[in-house]
Amino acid sequence: MTPPVVELSGVSQRYGEVVALADAHLVIARGELVAIVGPSGSGKSTMLNIMGTLSRPTSGHVRVDGHAVEELSDRELSALRAGTIGFVFQQFHLTSGIPVLDSVADGLLYSGTTRARRRRLAEAALRRVGLGHRLYHEPHQLSGGEKQRVAIARAVLGDPPLLLADEPTGALDSRSGATVLELLHELNDAGTTVVVITHDRDVAASLPREVRLKDGRIQHDSATAGREMAAVTSGAEG
Ligand code: ADP
Ligand code: MG
Repeated sequence: MTPPVVELSGVSQRYGEVVALADAHLVIARGELVAIVGPSGSGKSTMLNIMGTLSRPTSGHVRVDGHAVEELSDRELSALRAGTIGFVFQQFHLTSGIPVLDSVADGLLYSGTTRARRRRLAEAALRRVGLGHRLYHEPHQLSGGEKQRVAIARAVLGDPPLLLADEPTGALDSRSGATVLELLHELNDAGTTVVVITHDRDVAASLPREVRLKDGRIQHDSATAGREMAAVTSGAEG
């Protein structure tokens, strides 16, 4: 059986007095498309960074693709991350003055792939996000939505099973934002597990699963809400 892509059990993150994430339990299965929603400061990025193994929590257990994160060295963690997770952020993180084909190809710089093959894969990834006609454009020649699609192409270059996106539409107008969301849906349809942070409740509600955070706590998870209800009901009966 394939393990869940992400498993958080009792995960907490403190920064001094601040509890950024409190006792989070969350299991994400392969193929899911999950929204993490909540007001600013509710712990969304903290949770995503922990899922992405970019930071280790103060306490609790994290598994990514079946691997217990606390048992891995930083080096092993980098390898797991490189092979398993693609990241997309609100700011696109593209290097100015560099054609997007190269920016995307550089995503495989340390993978041992030849330059020619990196560029072929990058071209395929850019075609996949609908930017086959923009390969030699530089970031300043692209719209915000196009830049974000380049960032997504770079994130999915090695076809990672998990894509984590932190407010990917936060810097975009609503139309470009809708296009980016559509693209995330397409990637999910093709098999990628996608976790997307948003503070837009409508966007969150439009996705198959919605996890709501407030003050570092999971307030609602549409995947388990029914089950918890059932447990409460059967508890009341028993
Ligand atoms: P969100 O992404 O929902 O806006 P964050 O996860 O970024 O929320 O932050 C949650 C809380 O943790 C906030 O109160 C924030 O100020 C605090 N926080 C986040 N990162 C740090 C850090 N590196 N050092 C100290 N406090 C932090
Ligand atoms: Mg954030």
